[in-house]
Amino acid sequence: MKTSTNNPHPETQILSTSTAGSLPKPAWLAQPEVLWSQWKLEGKELIDGKHDALRVSLQEQQQAGIDIVSDGEQTRQHFVTTFIEHLNGVDFEKRQTVKIRDRYDASVPTVVSAITRPKSVFVEDAKLLRQQTSQPIKWALPGPMTIIDTLYDDHYHSREKLAWEFAKILNQEAKELEAVGVDIIQFDEPAFNVFFDEVNDWGMACLERAIEGLKCETAVHICYGYGIKANTDWKKTLGSQWRQYEVILPKLQASNIDIVSLECHNSRVPIELLELIRGKKVMVGAIDVATDTIETPEEVANTLREALKYVDADKLYPCTNCGMAPLSRHVARAKLQALSAGAQIVRTELCA
Ligand SMILES: [Zn+2]
Repeated sequence: MKTSTNNPHPETQILSTSTAGSLPKPAWLAQPEVLWSQWKLEGKELIDGKHDALRVSLQEQQQAGIDIVSDGEQTRQHFVTTFIEHLNGVDFEKRQTVKIRDRYDASVPTVVSAITRPKSVFVEDAKLLRQQTSQPIKWALPGPMTIIDTLYDDHYHSREKLAWEFAKILNQEAKELEAVGVDIIQFDEPAFNVFFDEVNDWGMACLERAIEGLKCETAVHICYGYGIKANTDWKKTLGSQWRQYEVILPKLQASNIDIVSLECHNSRVPIELLELIRGKKVMVGAIDVATDTIETPEEVANTLREALKYVDADKLYPCTNCGMAPLSRHVARAKLQALSAGAQIVRTELCA
């Protein structure tokens, strides 16, 4: 694995495991098993609490044998809104109801003037994570298209222009994360699975702008969403084969993105679509985040074996389908352990 210049890590093993990003928060920090749950602490106590939760989340990943670790998104209330909260130009008091990803209504803040980033958003958190471990670390940021789909725009009056502004800001943030030793910067773009014309017209260009000049590895995560009802209802309308990836993977194949993180286990995505990004590194979702049922290691191994028909072993990273924030902590822990155990089965087979 390529590592950033100021953090020489040992090469990681084959089939290095990872997570899509978010992990459950402790109940003393925020109400568990819901999205957008309110913080239970305030002021300095909240800052300390978030950092303690980050340490615990890291330890849980390590104890489960996860190779490429993250902050578990413990310092974020939500993967999109927490980033936006730190920017100028967005009024959180002025709210509008919009349909997110063409799927469900949500009350969102309004863009009222030019978007700027007065200071870094996650760099201090990333420094803390970097201090805690010498393992490779991955940091997730919301992608430009997914961000603008979670906002009401009363200033730019153009989704493309607004996304481009966010791409520039994300690029600044990403460069600072790289500088403090983040090994992989991942952009979460579930919106890519919905707005195909826009992906084509400007979505890919914005993603490329967001990764411009980065020397660390870059990833994009594209999934069918958290296991919340709006998403599971939507999935029921998608028919027996989910072929959304068929439209976007060729564009990613032609892009400068190093790693593509996809939902594979228990989904109706035809696994052979992975062939469309042959040559890229793939984080293969082998854990279903929309059910409390714990995968057996053998089930994980089966998903990985199927993926190996289309992804070279040195480019395959066993992962979760999406974030696990809405799950209970014991379910998330057990799923991480299953991911590690399943990867180990296949590792042993490959080395036999
Ligand atoms: Zn996801």
